[in-house]
Parts: sequence; C-alpha cells; structure tokens
Amino acid sequence: MELPKILDLSPEQLKSALNRGIIKFYSGFGIEAVQIRKSFGKIEEGTMICLGDNIDVVIGFPKIRRTLMLSPALQKHFKDQVALEEKMNGYNVRIARVNGQIKAFTRGGFICPYTTKKAIQLMEMDKFFEDNSHLVICGEMVGTDNPYVSHYYPEIGKLGFRIFDVREKLTNTPLAVMKKRELLEEYNLPSVRLFGIHDTDEAAHEVLEIVKRLGKENREGVVIKDPKMEIPPLKYTSSEAHALELEYAFSFPFDLGQAFFFSRVLREGFQSFEMGESDEEKKLRAQRIGESILNPLLNTIQLIAEDKIAAEDMVIEVDHPEEAEDFARYLRDMGVMALIVEVKGGKAVIRRLHQSSSDKVSNYLQGGLY
Ligand code: ATP
Ligand code: MG
Repeated sequence: MELPKILDLSPEQLKSALNRGIIKFYSGFGIEAVQIRKSFGKIEEGTMICLGDNIDVVIGFPKIRRTLMLSPALQKHFKDQVALEEKMNGYNVRIARVNGQIKAFTRGGFICPYTTKKAIQLMEMDKFFEDNSHLVICGEMVGTDNPYVSHYYPEIGKLGFRIFDVREKLTNTPLAVMKKRELLEEYNLPSVRLFGIHDTDEAAHEVLEIVKRLGKENREGVVIKDPKMEIPPLKYTSSEAHALELEYAFSFPFDLGQAFFFSRVLREGFQSFEMGESDEEKKLRAQRIGESILNPLLNTIQLIAEDKIAAEDMVIEVDHPEEAEDFARYLRDMGVMALIVEVKGGKAVIRRLHQSSSDKVSNYLQGGLY
C-alpha cells in the first residue's frame, strides 16, 4: 500500500501509530479514509486521506497562534505589510471534492453530514471544484441555527458560510490573500471581510481600533495575515468575545470552566494594558469579566438545585428524521454525549449533556467537600 509513502512514514511507524490510535480507519457518509487523530510528525491533526479511485489528501487546518501584545508581536512576526481580515465566530469547515463528491470536514477530520448538506445548499460550488479539484475551501459556518457555535450576525441570520482560506490538497499551501479573494469573487463564493492591507508599523493601532468597534457589535475579532500567506497568521479578539466565551464555559463549570478561564483572563490583562485604559474603562472591563463568570455559574447552581441537568440544546434543520440520527451518530463518533430530544416541523433538537457539571454541582449542593 502507498500509505506509508504519502505520510512519509516507515511501515513500522505507521503500525505503531495505528496501534496507539493516532491513526484510524474511517468509514462513513460515502467515504473510506485514513484519519489522523493527533498531530504526528509533520502531519496536522484532522488530516484525512480519502481512499477511492484517486487518493485525496485533505490536510488538517493549522492552529492559529494568538498575540497578547499586538505592537511587538506584529513587528517581530510579519514583514512590511499585513492583511486584516475579520475573524468570524462559528466553526471551522474544510470543503473538498473527494472521490467525486463534495464533502465538508470539521476540525478533527470528521465528515459532518449536516454541514455537508448545508454548505451545498448555501453555495454553488460545482463549477469551482470542476475547475479546481486540487483546492480545498476553508471557512467558518456561522449563524444561530448552528449546532456548534450559535452566534447571531445581522448579515447572516440563521446560517451562512464565510471563506477565509483556499488551500492546496496534500501540501496545504494557501493562496495569497488577494489571489484568494479574486478567485472566490470569480466563482461568486462568499469571503470573510477584509478590513485592509496595512504597513506593519501602523497595524497594531489599526487592529486595536477595529477590535473596539467589533466588540461593541458583539463581533469576535481579527486574523492578521501575511498578504502572501508565507508566514502563519495570528489572531486577536475583543473583550466582548472573551466575555461571551466565559459565560458559556461557566454555564458548564466542571466541563469547560477551567480550560477556558486562564487564557481569557490573560487576554483581558494585556489588552487593557496595550489600550492604555482609563480607570473608568478598567472598571467596565472588570465588571464585564466578573459578571461573565459569576452569573452563569449561579444560574447553573440554581438549575441543579431545582433537580435539572447541565445541558445545551442544539437545533438543526432536518428534512428526514434519519438526518437527526446521522448527526447524533457523528457527534458520538467525536466522543460527545448527545441525545435526540425531538424531531418536529423540520427541526431536530439535540441535547448535549455536560455530565461532570451536573454531578459535581449536585454533590456540593448536598454538602460534598471540595
Ligand atoms: P481551533 O484553532 O482548534 O479551531 P480555537 O478555538 O483555538 O480552536 P479560534 O480561537 O476560533 O480557534 O481561532 C482559530 C479559528 O478561527 C480558525 O480555525 C478558523 O476556524 C476561525 N476563523 C474565523 N475567521 C477566520 C479568518 N478570517 N481567517 C482564519 N481563520 C478564521
Ligand atoms: Mg472560533
């Protein structure tokens, strides 16, 4: 088999990776593939090697590092110019034509049946992939009818897709920022917003102003990119986005609270410092962070005290009950505890359980010791 060659591994290394569960065979939604569960050598987590008449390799989407202090970080990291794009708050999707079919892959390299169906409804991609079968569309699925990250954008409403990268299969080389935008425009495909291309010297000031404005509109932030896409991008987000995430995490304190907490607080500290805030502004920020932690925590304690459970309901549009089943199966494949609550009027309600939060809060309410 050619697999060791594609992955640049010896047959022994491949066998050991299979034994340790780093590489898995995947079969579902019309695709047989080899899935990379954890980064491995030079191979990105979430890579899928799709088998069939041709072998199509869709590389995992690389992690984007964060800057805490814009001004020195941008100078150090980038060359003379940077492109500032809006960072949309939804979930990461790669779309490619594999084995003749257009499929949507979520972060870990799972084919999501719901995302695949919706992406095909939202965008006319046949012509694009006929002409560019070697390319992968990387973008964010956003909107309120979104099973992972439900966030309201006035220009999107229920569900929409915004493309931020176009990359080559197998090498994962991204197109330069303007080339990408021209190509997408040519095929009438939707891009994320570009705020502009700036001299790196002036970019930190620009990003701070943009992020203040975005925050007031409850929008997430920016991704700062090398216009040629030869240097990896960096991300920077608004205080309001941090607060929203803390609020979510502290609704499920023992499932998400700890993992979310420290990084968000650090971001707030450095942002306040770099913005040179007044006492009044610092007070507002402190209040926003405090409330985004305490209020959801209190709500959850109250809920469990009333014998309810810590859970979140996700709503997806379905044409058949099987689509809800497929989606629940996909979630369980990813290790998420989920059950279908109801399927009615073209909508399915799927409940994701946060068991540790239910159990631990209940235990403490009954006098358990911390
Ligand atoms: P992960 O990096 O695993 O996706 P994360 O929570 O750390 O998880 P984010 O903080 O959301 O990720 O930031 C990175 C993600 O931002 C990208 O993976 C991508 O889905 C999303 N994104 C939104 N807008 C853009 C954009 N304009 N350019 C690049 N990525 C963007
Ligand atoms: Mg995100």
